[in-house]
Amino acid sequence: SFPIASGPLARRQRRRAVISYGDRQVVVGGGAPVMVQSMTNTDTADAIGTAIQIKDLARAGSEVVRITVNSPEAAAAVPAIREQLDRMGVDVPLVGDFHYNGHTLLNDYPDCAQALSKYRINPGNVGKGAKRDTQFAQMIEVACRYDKPVRIGVNWGSLDQALLARIMDENAQRKEPWPAQAVMYEALVTSAIENAQRAEELGMDGNKIILSCKVSGVQDLIAVYRELANRCDYPLHLGLTEAGMGSKGIVASTAALSVLLQEGIGDTIRISLTPEPGGDRTREVIVGQEILQTMGLRKFTPMVIACPGCGRTTSTVFQDLADKIQTYLREQMPVWKGVYPGVESMNVAVMGCIVNGPGESKHANIGISLPGTGESPAAPVFIDGEKRMTLRGDRIAEEFQSIVLEYVQS
Ligand code: SF4
Repeated sequence: SFPIASGPLARRQRRRAVISYGDRQVVVGGGAPVMVQSMTNTDTADAIGTAIQIKDLARAGSEVVRITVNSPEAAAAVPAIREQLDRMGVDVPLVGDFHYNGHTLLNDYPDCAQALSKYRINPGNVGKGAKRDTQFAQMIEVACRYDKPVRIGVNWGSLDQALLARIMDENAQRKEPWPAQAVMYEALVTSAIENAQRAEELGMDGNKIILSCKVSGVQDLIAVYRELANRCDYPLHLGLTEAGMGSKGIVASTAALSVLLQEGIGDTIRISLTPEPGGDRTREVIVGQEILQTMGLRKFTPMVIACPGCGRTTSTVFQDLADKIQTYLREQMPVWKGVYPGVESMNVAVMGCIVNGPGESKHANIGISLPGTGESPAAPVFIDGEKRMTLRGDRIAEEFQSIVLEYVQS
């Protein structure tokens, strides 16, 4: 352990865990790029439906996908899900999320234990009383038998009550007891670290353990992870649990994760968004990527710089074009990735008028400045800082898209 005064370890000083499937290896910790993961919300027993959602999440850029394994039917479906993914050419590693009956499912369904690339164990939901330790040990034994990494994922909503009672007792003995919030932080961090140490005592390789301590409050998450990062060198999975819907969930996750990531805390992230009715699950992957890319920690896709628009933009042409180009670039990335090296570093500017349009366009790799109110109906295009052409008419979007494609291919 590390004294609190020392500050968090740099990312490269953390242990390095590898989550693999076939030739696909995803490294977490040890200075590896911060990894984006996600979780399905299908019934895992529905192998086809789950495989399709995993494929969508993986194609959107999720580097690991977690599925709940909550019943014998779900455990039995896991090998079939893996097979479906193999047929679709999707090699994303799968993580099984276990609660209450994980020890039974992992032992009774060896094909499930084998098909998964990592197990998530919630130490608060492993069992109660004397059974708790035995059941935790059973899960760790399976992980050792199949050589799988684990995430010991503590959650404030399901904290080990016996451990919490112990920490509260210890607090009561203090001359100056800590406030309730500090006791909660201590219980979360202690649960994660003690269970990781127990797993190592049971024979688990310490380089196969990832930790998380999720809470739903931004300030709580920051405080808990600062403490966790100071007290261990395991790689850390970061996420604000129950972040919420829509902009609230995105803003809360971004606020909490940005502070921690900036301090070098967090080796993998998940953005837990409640999907809007009928909403797309892949949104959480895109938001995770955008947090990392806008912070300059990773590059996933060419960035579109667009002005907010104002009274000078009278038509929706400008918003439509910005949206079309962003969607087009994101959709093309699986095709372009690896084929056009460096494409993910590209900037494309879509601007609404001449006030800032030409200036921003010149600074981007490619930029277009659409005509604002009262301006001549012409859209100058800038490539690598030089004005190269002017687009006019109804097909500006299609023509600009072709120019972007030509630039990428050149
Ligand atoms: Fe408004 Fe033009 Fe600025 Fe865009 S670039 S916000 S349209 S003034």
